Amino acid sequence: MEKKKLELLQKKKKSIHNFLDTMKTKEYVSNEVHYFKGKKYILNLKDSKRSRIEIDDKKYIYFYVPSNYTLEQKQKYYENWLRKELKKELERLVPKWEKIIEVKAREVRIKKMKTRWGSCNFYARRIWINLELIKRPLEHLEYVIVHELVHFLEKSHNKRFKSLLDLFLPQWRLYKQELNQFILDY
Ligand SMILES: [Zn+2]
Repeated sequence: MEKKKLELLQKKKKSIHNFLDTMKTKEYVSNEVHYFKGKKYILNLKDSKRSRIEIDDKKYIYFYVPSNYTLEQKQKYYENWLRKELKKELERLVPKWEKIIEVKAREVRIKKMKTRWGSCNFYARRIWINLELIKRPLEHLEYVIVHELVHFLEKSHNKRFKSLLDLFLPQWRLYKQELNQFILDY
């Protein structure tokens, strides 16, 4: 038991450390650590007239960008890329869970948020997803999607809401716990 506890503690420590890394202001320079879908990558900048981003699944995110680009230009391009990648995942995961939960979101939007991983407007049937989630493991994104879609069945975080989550995503408590280590308001 003690060993298991220790392992858990180490895991927790590691994930907090990893997340603090992701929250640091980025400079978009080579050798900087960036997270993507829960994996750690090293940024590798390449001079190129045409901007693009390529992922080497083992280690690197190659960021091709004109050498005269300012920090703001690099940040804008990079965040746009993150947005596109998150959109791809949402286009796959939202319909999957809409089918299972038997609800439909009229609109799913991506937003940079400081205090929440997601939110929903019950009446407008609209869901907001935090852009940061594309840096987290996909199970975390999936949990937030399920959480927000279940709100269309139950507005508040009551007993019924929790039993619906238990039904659709039995491991939701673990994902919630992992996410809440970082943003407390969710
Ligand atoms: Zn909620």
